[in-house]
Formats: sequence, C-alpha cells, structure tokens
Amino acid sequence: MNPSQLGAKQGVMMSKFEIGGHTYKVNEVTLEKNDEGKSLLGMHDVKTNTILVDEGMTHSRKVETFMHEVIHVIYANTGCDHDERAIDALSNGLLQLGVADFLWKKVKK
Ligand SMILES: [Zn+2]
Repeated sequence: MNPSQLGAKQGVMMSKFEIGGHTYKVNEVTLEKNDEGKSLLGMHDVKTNTILVDEGMTHSRKVETFMHEVIHVIYANTGCDHDERAIDALSNGLLQLGVADFLWKKVKK
C-alpha cells in the first residue's frame, strides 16, 4: 500500500528510523477524510513500514499523533491487541514527558 492508497496527498519526506528492528518512513502529508467522513490525523502501514502524519496540524498535535502511530506499530510488531484509548493515554503521556519530541527530532534529523 502506498501513501496515495492510504488517502494521502503529496507530502514532505522525512528521515527513516527503526521500530523493533523495522525501518520506518515517516511522511507529513495531507490526509483525506475516511469513508465515514472522519478526519484522520495519522496512520501507519505495517506492510510498507510507513507512518503518515497530517501536515495541517500544530507541532504538538503532529508529535502526539506521530507518537500514537509509533505505539500502534509497537503493538502490531508484538501481536498485541490495540486499544485506542490506552494508546491515546500513552501517546499524550509520552508527549508530556518529552519522549515524543525526542523521537520526532530523531526522525527529522
Ligand atoms: Zn490509533
């Protein structure tokens, strides 16, 4: 699946980084609304090792969304069930602790 199949328009290519031994590409793009008309802030694809973050958000929302998608990938890599509220709690907590910004800067270098 490529970014256009994920409902994304062209975006900024960012550096790659590793999650659980897998090299992930992270792109800031304009994400389209999904079939239910809901605006997507971010998404990930474990087949192509891609994380997409909507470029129209403020910096803190981008970083929190990026952290959210990274946590999704960690769960997917380990075959764990996904709970959106738990992932939101973790991503917001890690944003407040500065972990999300640390990872974002690591990806953008
Ligand atoms: Zn999610």
